[in-house]
Amino acid sequence: MDLNFTADELAFRDEVRRFIEQNFDSEMRAAMARTRTGYIAKHLHIRWQKALNEKGWLAPNWPVEYGGPGWTPTQRYIYEQEMNSAGAPIVVPFGPRMLAPVIMKFGTEAQKKKYLPDILASNTWWCQGYSEPGAGSDLASLQMKAEDKGDHFLCNGSKIWTSEAQHADMIFCLVRTAQTKKPQEGISFLLIDMKSPGVTVSPIVTIDEASEGMQEVNQVFFDDVKVPKENLVGELNQGWTCAKYLLEFERGNAYSGHLKRHLAHLRKMAKAEQAHGASLAQDPDFAAKLAQAEMDIMAMEMLELRVLGGTKSGQNLGAASSMLKTRGTELQQLVTELSAEAVGYYASPFTPLIEGSNEPTIGPDYADGAAPRYLNMRKVTIYAGSNEIQRNIMSKLILGL
Ligand SMILES: Cc1cc2nc3c(=O)[nH]c(=O)nc-3n(C[C@H](O)[C@H](O)[C@H](O)COP(=O)(O)OP(=O)(O)OC[C@H]3O[C@@H](n4cnc5c(N)ncnc54)[C@H](O)[C@@H]3O)c2cc1C
Repeated sequence: MDLNFTADELAFRDEVRRFIEQNFDSEMRAAMARTRTGYIAKHLHIRWQKALNEKGWLAPNWPVEYGGPGWTPTQRYIYEQEMNSAGAPIVVPFGPRMLAPVIMKFGTEAQKKKYLPDILASNTWWCQGYSEPGAGSDLASLQMKAEDKGDHFLCNGSKIWTSEAQHADMIFCLVRTAQTKKPQEGISFLLIDMKSPGVTVSPIVTIDEASEGMQEVNQVFFDDVKVPKENLVGELNQGWTCAKYLLEFERGNAYSGHLKRHLAHLRKMAKAEQAHGASLAQDPDFAAKLAQAEMDIMAMEMLELRVLGGTKSGQNLGAASSMLKTRGTELQQLVTELSAEAVGYYASPFTPLIEGSNEPTIGPDYADGAAPRYLNMRKVTIYAGSNEIQRNIMSKLILGL
C-alpha cells in the first residue's frame, strides 16, 4: 500500500482544507465543541450541508450519475481525514448515507426523481424507523402493521430509539405487511411523512442529557396513519432485502480521523493533569494506556485504508462493514473512557453543555463534557446492530463458522 500522496492528491487536500476554513464558521465550531452526540442544531447542519452540496461534495459515496463527486478511494480517504481531524459537522446520515443507496437500488424512477435531489439539497430531513419496543437485535420480529386499503396502507404501531425524529420531515420504516411463517418474508419498506395525521413523536430522555429539548432518541407512534401506495420502496413483502442492504451502508464508516483528533485532545489533557507530582502523561500506567490506544487507532486506520480503499463509490461493503463498526466503536468508547479518567472529578459537571447556559466552566476548559460524552458513547456498541450481533455476522460470513 503506497501511503504517499501524489501532487494532485496534495492539491485536493489543500482544496478540502480551504473549504473547511471558509465554511466551518464560528457558530458551528462553538456547537461542535459542545456536542456530546455528534449532532448540532438543525439549522447549522443544513447550512453546512448546503455548502457541501454547492461544492458537489455532500455525498462522496454516491455514484456520479446521481450527483456523487466521482472521487478515487484516496480522495475519499483524504476528504474524510480532513473533515474528521478538523472536527467539522457530520453529514446527518439518514438521508444521504442510509436511504439514498436503497432508493438507487430498489426505488422506482419516480421515487429517485422525487427523493434523491431533496436529499442532496438537504431540503428533506429523514429518520430511521427500524427498531420497535419488542424488536431490536431480533429485528424481523417487528410488529408495526401496514394494512392494504386499496390506494393506501393504514399503519399502526410504534418505532423506538428513533434518532433525531423530532427534526425529521420523513421516516423510512420497516412495516409488517403479511404474517408469514418466516417473519422476514412479511416485511415491507415504507416512506412515511412525519406530518401525517396520527404520527406522534415522544422524546426519550437519556442519562447524558443536560437539558430538555436536547434529546437524541425518541419513540414514534403511528395511529391509523394513511400512507400512499407509491411510498412503498421495492416489492411488497421484500423489505428485508432493502433493510439489510441499508445496514451495510449504515455501518461502513471511517473512524480513525475522529479517533486521532480525540486522542490528540486526550494527550493535551494528560499533559495538563497532575499525578504523583508529575504530569499524568508521564505516569507509567496512563502513558501505557495512551500508547496502546495510539497503536490501536493506527491499526484501525490501516484497516480502513484496506477495506474502504478497495471499494468503488456506491458499492456496499458487505460483512467488512461489521468489522469496521465493531473495532471503530470499541475505540470510540476507549477514548472517552480515558478522557473521563484523565480529568477525574472534573468530568462530572454537565453545566457547560446546557444550551444557552452562561454558567462558568467548573474545572479546566478541556474537561467540559467528559462525562456526558463518556455516557453518550455507551450507545455506539448498541446502535446500528449491537457489536455482539456484528460478531455473529462476522463469524458466519467472514469466518464461515
Ligand atoms: C443512541 C441510539 C440511537 C438509535 N437510533 C436508532 C434509530 O434511529 N432507528 C432505529 O430503528 N433504531 C435505533 N436504535 C436502536 C438500535 O438499533 C437497537 O438498540 C439495537 O439494534 C439493539 O436492540 P435492542 O436495544 O432491542 O437490544 P436487544 O436486542 O434486546 O439486545 C440486548 C442485548 O442482548 C444482546 N443480544 C441480542 N441478541 C443476541 C444474539 N443473537 N447474540 C448475541 N447477543 C445478543 C445484544 O447485543 C445486547 O447486548 C438506536 C439505539 C441507540 C442506543
